Amino acid sequence: MSPQRLLSLAALAVLALAPLVVSEFSVTLLNYIGLASLVAIGCSLLTGVGGLTSFGQAAFVGLGAYTTAVLTTQFGWSPWLTLPAGLALTTAVAMLLAVITLRLSGHFLPVGTIAWGISLYYLFANVDGLGGQTGITGVPPLQIGEHVVNTGREFYYLVWIFVVLALVAMRNLLDSRPGRAIRALRGGVMMAESCGVDTQHYRAVIFLVSALLACLSGWLYAHLIRFVNPSPFSINLSIEYLFMAVIGGASHVWGAVVGATVLTVLKQWLQDILPRLIHASGNFETIVFGLLMVLLLQRARTGIMPFLSRFLPLEQPVAVPDLEPSKVEPEATLASRPKPAAGEPLLEVRQAVRRFGGLVAVNRISFEMRAGEILGLIGPNGAGKSTMFNLITGVLAPSAGEVWLRGERVDHLRSRQIAQRGVARTFQHVQLRPGMSVIENVAIGAHLRASGGVMGAALRLDRAAERSMLREARVQLERVGLGAELLAPAGSLPLGSQRILEVARALAADPMLLLLDEPAAGLRYQEKRALADLLVRLRGEGVSILLVEHDMDFVMNLVDRLVVMQFGEQIATGLPHEIQANPAVIEAYLGGVE
Ligand code: ADP
Ligand code: MG
Repeated sequence: MSPQRLLSLAALAVLALAPLVVSEFSVTLLNYIGLASLVAIGCSLLTGVGGLTSFGQAAFVGLGAYTTAVLTTQFGWSPWLTLPAGLALTTAVAMLLAVITLRLSGHFLPVGTIAWGISLYYLFANVDGLGGQTGITGVPPLQIGEHVVNTGREFYYLVWIFVVLALVAMRNLLDSRPGRAIRALRGGVMMAESCGVDTQHYRAVIFLVSALLACLSGWLYAHLIRFVNPSPFSINLSIEYLFMAVIGGASHVWGAVVGATVLTVLKQWLQDILPRLIHASGNFETIVFGLLMVLLLQRARTGIMPFLSRFLPLEQPVAVPDLEPSKVEPEATLASRPKPAAGEPLLEVRQAVRRFGGLVAVNRISFEMRAGEILGLIGPNGAGKSTMFNLITGVLAPSAGEVWLRGERVDHLRSRQIAQRGVARTFQHVQLRPGMSVIENVAIGAHLRASGGVMGAALRLDRAAERSMLREARVQLERVGLGAELLAPAGSLPLGSQRILEVARALAADPMLLLLDEPAAGLRYQEKRALADLLVRLRGEGVSILLVEHDMDFVMNLVDRLVVMQFGEQIATGLPHEIQANPAVIEAYLGGVE
């Protein structure tokens, strides 16, 4: 049995036995911790993993609580029907808010969430039939069959079963195709979109999942307290939930529970001790929380979990699939796309222009590429090469001109759509998820070659597809020479190897056109040789390669043709020996030294 499994079982045993040995008061506290954990798990997914900040989660808790309070007291519904009703209402509200707010970027998103968090809060306080500030009393207890759940100890088991299920589902989700897409959201969407990930979709998904967990917590809360009023659903509470996720740290799903425990216990303790210290009553714990939050963000942004994982085996490494033919299940190979025949027209750039304000970074560049060709794009720094890559891959739209891919005009498409058409790339400034393992980073590249959504992943119905994706990632990593680093965090590799990791990630997409932006920078001589051999082999397999590279020996021995740029202009196009003898190119590179 793995140490992680042992630890999980031990935690489960402690959870199961706790209410039998602790006081009634502690059971109540544990119930609150469980309820808060459900919301914090959602915050952890949303903020910690996905990088989206919401100050409105308490409003979703309120939605769950008020839905069941109204439907049970005024319409006589059974609580087991109000739960799906609350989840459905939350889905509708969350999707509406997602359409409005998730388009916002930067600090506009948190501000947007504050706005609707406050709106929902005032809705609870002011809509007729919701009881105003006094709220709704007489919410019935939950009933399981004939049995009424009316002691704290019984409720404890109900709450914590939901918490454990949420944790398991979350761990399953993060360790899957949609999970890797979600983990790729953080730190900019350019890389994820270039791998074909629909980042807008996954942002909406994690927003919805976190809202549903909050709604579930609200439903449980209403039936524990048996009455609802607006105050527990205010923005203060939203901030506390966010704080719990931050304290726990995003790297582990358990973190949310740790954060919820620390904050709930601390709050209880401060509420007890502060009025006695200050000799006045009031919500002084809020001030202490504020100070703690500032301290935490300054000193320990990653939360408590990285610290705990030094002592406890929290990290479950990815199961690396076998490559031995006898051990590979037949379904474990991803289908590969048919490549265009050698010599077929593949890419055509016509008079492409890109301006940044007054700067013309790319000025009327035209070239074409045929299938099975390696085309070099060279020029001094600032010539516009990377911008040209961005125009081809849909990261940027051209200010004028056209880009055609196999007879289809693609310059108006988004980068995810270009990826779908078989174009993969690497970035001059490496774009990977440093905390994720090497093999998982590469598996993001295979995103479009498998399917499978969030539900299937949470329920672990996706294992065959998962094996195929990880196997493909491993195959590509072995191929580029990183087979010994599969489980290392990608950020721990030397920069040169990180670039090679990006090549493997691009190859995992099974591209017909591969764009490499300075792949050999930072490589040693032998590593460059190996990379050149790999590119030649890829060309032999029908992959076309557009290559930006400064090492002229590397370029000249490899490419079929060259395009040379300088200050956005195309100064030469031709075969390597023609380019080497071209006076304009010599001038550009040597700057008139002779
Ligand atoms: P290269 O890759 O050939 O070194 P780039 O394409 O990165 O050149 O840059 C070409 C020019 O465009 C440079 O002057 C650079 O500063 C400018 N540039 C590139 N991207 C942007 C951007 N997003 N906004 C403004 N200027 C940019
Ligand atoms: Mg560049």
